[in-house]
Amino acid sequence: MNTSEKTLAALRQHLHETALLESTMALLEWDEHTGMPDRAGDYRSEQLMLLSGFVHQRKTDPRIGEWLDELSTSDLSADPYSPVGALIRCVRRDYDRNVRLPESLIKHLAKATSLGQQVWVKAKRDNDYAAFQPSLHEIISLRREEASLLASDGEPLYDALLDQYEEGAKSKDVASVFEKLRDALIPWVRNAQETAQQAGPSSVEGVFDIEAQRTFSRWVAKKIGFDFERGRLDETVHPFCTTLGPHDHRILTRYSDSSFSTGLYGVLHEAGHGMYEQGLEPDWYGTPVATAASLGVHESQSRLWENSVGLSRPFWDWCMPEARKLFPSLEAVAIDRWVRDLNRVQCSLIRIEADEVTYNMHILIRFELEMGLIARDLNVADLPEAWSDKYQNYLGIRPPNDALGVLQDVHWSAGLIGYFPTYTLGNIYAAQLYEAADRELGGVGRLVAKGEFAPLLAWLREKVHRFGRRYPPMELIEKATGNAFSSDALIRHLRTKLA
Ligand SMILES: [Zn+2]
Repeated sequence: MNTSEKTLAALRQHLHETALLESTMALLEWDEHTGMPDRAGDYRSEQLMLLSGFVHQRKTDPRIGEWLDELSTSDLSADPYSPVGALIRCVRRDYDRNVRLPESLIKHLAKATSLGQQVWVKAKRDNDYAAFQPSLHEIISLRREEASLLASDGEPLYDALLDQYEEGAKSKDVASVFEKLRDALIPWVRNAQETAQQAGPSSVEGVFDIEAQRTFSRWVAKKIGFDFERGRLDETVHPFCTTLGPHDHRILTRYSDSSFSTGLYGVLHEAGHGMYEQGLEPDWYGTPVATAASLGVHESQSRLWENSVGLSRPFWDWCMPEARKLFPSLEAVAIDRWVRDLNRVQCSLIRIEADEVTYNMHILIRFELEMGLIARDLNVADLPEAWSDKYQNYLGIRPPNDALGVLQDVHWSAGLIGYFPTYTLGNIYAAQLYEAADRELGGVGRLVAKGEFAPLLAWLREKVHRFGRRYPPMELIEKATGNAFSSDALIRHLRTKLA
């Protein structure tokens, strides 16, 4: 081993031990959301606080800076896209970011967002925006301060926040791609709303035995390729996916006996996230080479399986016979009608209940508002009115109160600003990836109708998963699909669906 190889080994050992700590935290958090007794909460948050302090110390350890300085002049960093070169580039990016933020600001933000979420819960319950306004004001000021420490010269502050979740994304580019999508969606959404009002009761609503839903969802997750030898499926209140080690991926869902979609589509979504994590290189676990490219790319994997595959006609041609064995009432429902009901478009006030088409509108509204807040074009005091006006203009509905409007999401109270756009970026990437896979595999629908999912998963592994963070997200999508980042594929997909 020469000197730079020794330095690289020291850096990798450091990252490995940090990953051991972080995955231990993830296990504690997984337990908190699955089986932890109510009264265990205080001790659990002490455990997590102590561990997160250790993790922060390790991530700002000055030795990382020294190792990076040495490695940046060695041959190892010559190719920024090779595994080692990308590792050096990404660790540098993360380290510089971590050391630029003073500990006092990090502590202040942690406190403001922890209190902010508690205040938000009460404000939402009491429909009292005024009670939440001071907390939100403080959180936005702190995140602006953070952004001003991170932004490069002349860069909009919002970009420094967006960059944290979506490396290299610029608000100007994202906004122009989103505007094109918004302008395409507005007339469709209005039309669909009129059709929906004439439609009768939905076959997707009814009584569906929960035990049968569990059996069916697990069967589907296994068939599409979620590896249960390296993962588990459990239940929780707010579904999520977490990774506890290179061979330990947990997905969580919830079931409702009155809605078929909640459980199955929750599982398809989380299994999409889980299969991405299972496709990262286990030997590089704990390094950027085996970390998801971005939140948007992560979301593209969940949306691709949930929407592009799971809501399609070929998917139901394949799985309806199995579904009818478990849910005898489906014998009386034609596949055509079932698929149409699953894909119903209806303007609603609540983001998390929105269909595939209107969902993006909810995101575009939040993106426009939070950019306004960070740029100081919009005052926190005027936010509820601005929110309602946008719902009126884009979706044709106005929230009757703030609980059903501006107070509905936890994100801003948790300090997550610049995070919302990654949901629609995920939908956009998913449509681009699906189109490319469809072209290269000679028709994904043809395979799905036969229950053959392995070629699609292998394509995603080859084009996306195995690279981790080696390419910034938009470069990765362009490399995988041959097309630059654009909402055209999503617009085409939604237009076909609506027709
Ligand atoms: Zn997701």
